[in-house]
Amino acid sequence: MSQKPEDFFKNVISHCKEYGYIFPSSEIYDGLSAVYDYGQYGAELKKNIREYWWRAMVQMHENIVGIDAAIFMHPTTWKASGHVDAFNDPLIDNKDSKKRYRADVLIEEHVVKIEDKINKEVEKAAKRFENFDEAMFRSTNARVKEYQDKIDSINNRFKNAMDKGDLAEVKQIIVDCEIVCPISGSRNWTDVRQFNLMFSTSMGSVAEEGNTIYLRPETAQGIFVNFLNVQKTGRMKIPFGIAQTGKAFRNEIVARQFIFRMREFEQMEMQFFVRPGTEMEWYEYWKKARLKWHQSLGLGNEKYKYHDHLKLAHYANAACDIEFAFPFGFKELEGIHSRTDFDLKQHEQFSGKKLQYFDPELNQNYVPYVVETSVGLDRLFLAILSAGLKEEELEGGDKRTVLNLPPALAPIKAAILPLVKKDGLPELAEKIMKELMFDHIVTYDEKDTVGRRYRRQDAIGTPYCITVDHDSLNDNSVTIRERDTMKQERVKISELARILDEKVSLKSLLKQL
Ligand code: ATP
Repeated sequence: MSQKPEDFFKNVISHCKEYGYIFPSSEIYDGLSAVYDYGQYGAELKKNIREYWWRAMVQMHENIVGIDAAIFMHPTTWKASGHVDAFNDPLIDNKDSKKRYRADVLIEEHVVKIEDKINKEVEKAAKRFENFDEAMFRSTNARVKEYQDKIDSINNRFKNAMDKGDLAEVKQIIVDCEIVCPISGSRNWTDVRQFNLMFSTSMGSVAEEGNTIYLRPETAQGIFVNFLNVQKTGRMKIPFGIAQTGKAFRNEIVARQFIFRMREFEQMEMQFFVRPGTEMEWYEYWKKARLKWHQSLGLGNEKYKYHDHLKLAHYANAACDIEFAFPFGFKELEGIHSRTDFDLKQHEQFSGKKLQYFDPELNQNYVPYVVETSVGLDRLFLAILSAGLKEEELEGGDKRTVLNLPPALAPIKAAILPLVKKDGLPELAEKIMKELMFDHIVTYDEKDTVGRRYRRQDAIGTPYCITVDHDSLNDNSVTIRERDTMKQERVKISELARILDEKVSLKSLLKQL
């Protein structure tokens, strides 16, 4: 669509609402910030994405098993993991607009603006390439260097300040960079303070301090604390993985990007336990395997890129993000982290229980190293939906809105449409629907002209429409129309189940891995 990215993003949001994919949470009470409900089609799409991930991880790997841990965990879990003390974002308020920002995001956005200036200088120079003289070259070079020095100095100051926990210095950077509030335009800032992102509640009937428990901010810890349970009962041999999907909760400060950043969201994580010293091989393996998984969806390989982390968390010895070209730019979709033995060792220390593996080949006990893959289900949903939504010009000046979802993930696999509402066509169409229903979610529609019914299914993203006409009564055949090409093909009714199965089963995706 030749639209401004922000307009296209608004279109995605309104399409989600109009076609039953996503609604604001408790909308009749004006919604709840950064919390969303999935509607009738959204719930199906989300379930199918989760299912594809689960099968690719658990069903297709002999050495990966899945669990379903509780959202509530013993509070000491979050002490051991570091979340109680360090799962913080630095926040700052603008006193005039009363808006709250993440200080690190304000600084990052300021740096991006300077980077844009560098890009503009380079573009300008490229345009004047033919008559570019020495003097021009020098002055361009000088400006680029000046901007780059500024960026380096801001980044260094910020990193030092965060390393030392010097929040006054973080504020000073915002002041020195003359960053203004995008709403009020003023530089009237409060001090910077740390804000813990975990939601807490109390367990039991008395709300005493000792009863405070947290809603898990990530699913990973449910896997770490169950490491030995699974290893022993499943007789797992290293290397092996434990996968899990489930809700996570973060009290995000900046939550303005629809389902990209939510306060209640779903993660799909896999912790892969390996022999110490082999983690880099496995890190590289999972980096490639996960990119391939994303690419198998057919959204366009150019929409993905790796972003290697230069600054590593203290427990990681390698980390990267798979970024996706969202309507608002390339942003993190999945994280792949080599987490060393940090988490298991922390849990050993805080619980006083050994979390070790006896390696029969080495004849030795050790705490395994962990490579994790962690992807947000909602972000994946947004990636698939925004890559699929298109407005197409048709022959004769007509337009159609089409949602090019991967057929295996589409909520409705086929719509059965009698050409007219009489002459026995609805009865035959219903008979076909009842047969296909055993294997797939299909729908029946007899309202409006067939052209209109096609358009409606295109917008929902239904990959196939099956039309029953008068000839069907005699030749036992129907017409299948494909959503993307709009091509129509005549097929035998007795072949329908097999054809549909071939086209929409998850197997077609799994085979590409
Ligand atoms: P970000 O830097 O965008 O806040 P993160 O690095 O904190 O993300 P992780 O803790 O690595 O994210 O979580 C793994 C994945 O979970 C992310 O790649 C993302 O897909 C998803 N995720 C994290 N926070 C949210 C959120 N608030 N809403 C939706 N998905 C999220």
